[in-house]
Amino acid sequence: MDAQMPSAEASPAELPAREAMEFDVVIVGAGPAGLAAAIRLKQIRPDISVVVVEKGSEVGAHILSGAVIDPIGLDRLLPDWRDEDSPIKTKVSADRFYWLSSSGGLPLPNFLMPPLMSNHGNYIVSLGEVCRWLASKAEAAGIEIYPGFAAAEVLYDGNAVAGVATGDMGIGKDGLPKANFTRGMELRAKYTLLAEGARGSLSRILLKDFALGAEREPQKFGIGLKELWQVAPDKHRPGLVQHSFGWPLDGKTGGGSFLYHYGDNLVSVGFVVHLNYENPYLSPFDEFQRFKTHPLIRDTFAGGKRLCYGARALTEGGYQSVPKLSFPGGALIGCAAGFMNVPRIKGSHNAMLSGMLAAEHVAKALASGRSNDELADYDEAWRASEIGSDLWKVRNAKPLWSKFGTLAGITLGGLDMWTNTIGFSLFGTLGHGKPDYATLKPASQSQPIAYPKPDGTLTFDRLSSVFLSNTNHEEGQPPHLIVHDMALQKSSEHDVYGGPSARYCPAGVYEWVEQGGTPHFVINAQNCVHCKTCDIKDPNQNITWVPPEGGGGPNYPNM
Ligand SMILES: Cc1cc2nc3c(=O)[nH]c(=O)nc-3n(C[C@H](O)[C@H](O)[C@H](O)COP(=O)(O)OP(=O)(O)OC[C@H]3O[C@@H](n4cnc5c(N)ncnc54)[C@H](O)[C@@H]3O)c2cc1C
Ligand code: SF4
Repeated sequence: MDAQMPSAEASPAELPAREAMEFDVVIVGAGPAGLAAAIRLKQIRPDISVVVVEKGSEVGAHILSGAVIDPIGLDRLLPDWRDEDSPIKTKVSADRFYWLSSSGGLPLPNFLMPPLMSNHGNYIVSLGEVCRWLASKAEAAGIEIYPGFAAAEVLYDGNAVAGVATGDMGIGKDGLPKANFTRGMELRAKYTLLAEGARGSLSRILLKDFALGAEREPQKFGIGLKELWQVAPDKHRPGLVQHSFGWPLDGKTGGGSFLYHYGDNLVSVGFVVHLNYENPYLSPFDEFQRFKTHPLIRDTFAGGKRLCYGARALTEGGYQSVPKLSFPGGALIGCAAGFMNVPRIKGSHNAMLSGMLAAEHVAKALASGRSNDELADYDEAWRASEIGSDLWKVRNAKPLWSKFGTLAGITLGGLDMWTNTIGFSLFGTLGHGKPDYATLKPASQSQPIAYPKPDGTLTFDRLSSVFLSNTNHEEGQPPHLIVHDMALQKSSEHDVYGGPSARYCPAGVYEWVEQGGTPHFVINAQNCVHCKTCDIKDPNQNITWVPPEGGGGPNYPNM
């Protein structure tokens, strides 16, 4: 573990000019949105040149999801996929939903659930494996995919986006080139699609530069933590999908669990905490560990082995938080735009559908000789599309949960989803209130939470968990977690809020360490699993996540 004190951003040295390559379309991010967009473009016109850049060391290395997928996106993109050998094999066979108390659980009958919540016809997968499979299809169609390259800078031509530049490699902490220095590349394009997923680093800049979120509700987020287990064969129920809410979270804090049985005795177990939580002592990581000890849950893992661990933010704002999607020269797709359906805990289908929708509008624009202008029809089209109707029916679920707490909020949310299914809502369209960074209460007004110690068999600590994410960053590079004002971090994050970063970070990156009687903020950037929670939840928005050297970060084999 490399403990490094953050420094002000090193001043850029004189660097050689970047090489430039020209494409019709540049796509940032090889998740379901980016890959679906790339494949759709080639399906429409094979002569369109498309490049996809991916910051993970390979496609799928940074993908973390549940995942139960609604196959609607795949059915539209690759209608014959069921006839092929794909990693999509386990069909959902049973669907359970529990409200948990500390000692027991109440199963909710499926007939109480609005039909949109049903998982009938869905599949349990590793989304990372699905992305690798989609990438092989994309490459076979002639799409260039560059894994190990982070898009670090937006390129402009006047006011229009004209592509991206990948980050330089081999820069030292001091900002000066090292012996292995390689200049980043300019990937210039007629249209640039941002498919970076939740809280994309370039998407965040474009949202601000083009005021894309103006007149919309603030985007909301959750942090999702996941472990992959190989369980004892007698504990495996292939096709079982189980969700819960309630314990161990208190009644005011939103979130819940998922448990999906699939593949070769595999169980994906995960826990989501809504990032509008108030108590700075709350630790999503420890809530997740505690959840696994519940009497209804722990038996699944007896005799099993934990294979992998990771975490990732997800978007939760839904319909009313989707920003304007288009800007001159490009558009946002997938979770970079926030197309996650929160009550269904599904976003991959909308990621694919939005990638395809954007691709269709890009192809139309290219066919009529346009370039680097605004794809306004894509922005207009999504609300009338399947994505719009998917998100419209559930638009009040999250605001009701935030406003009324778990029990009343979920009950009212369920009622609202039912009435929306038949075409009306008693609530209209509710707002979300404050952005997530503004919801923490000062430590002095909050109750510390005593979490049990990990037992090393069912529950674990952060460091042994991060080890299972295979996270690695090139040593000696400039910090990719920028603390803008260290004095503010001490006077507010530490002194007022009690240092919540040490608890919300699922990888143990942040620590307040006493040195000579003074607390110092230590950043173990090496451990960062790229979940983006610090960029979202720091109470002063004083931490910015920027891409580290390409290829750095987790190396998830099948998350
Ligand atoms: C814990 C959890 C559980 C979930 N469960 C489900 C589920 O069961 N079913 C479901 O349908 N959905 C689920 N989701 C949501 C689903 O994972 C997302 O909706 C989906 O992955 C979004 O796809 P995307 O392509 O927009 O972004 P992502 O899947 O996040 O992919 C983005 C890609 O872009 C890359 N990237 C980002 N920035 C850059 C950059 N600057 N340069 C280069 N590359 C970059 C990333 O490395 C990544 O590979 C879950 C999410 C989480 C976190
Ligand atoms: S440093 Fe930030 S992005 Fe990295 S793991 Fe921690 S909270 Fe997530």
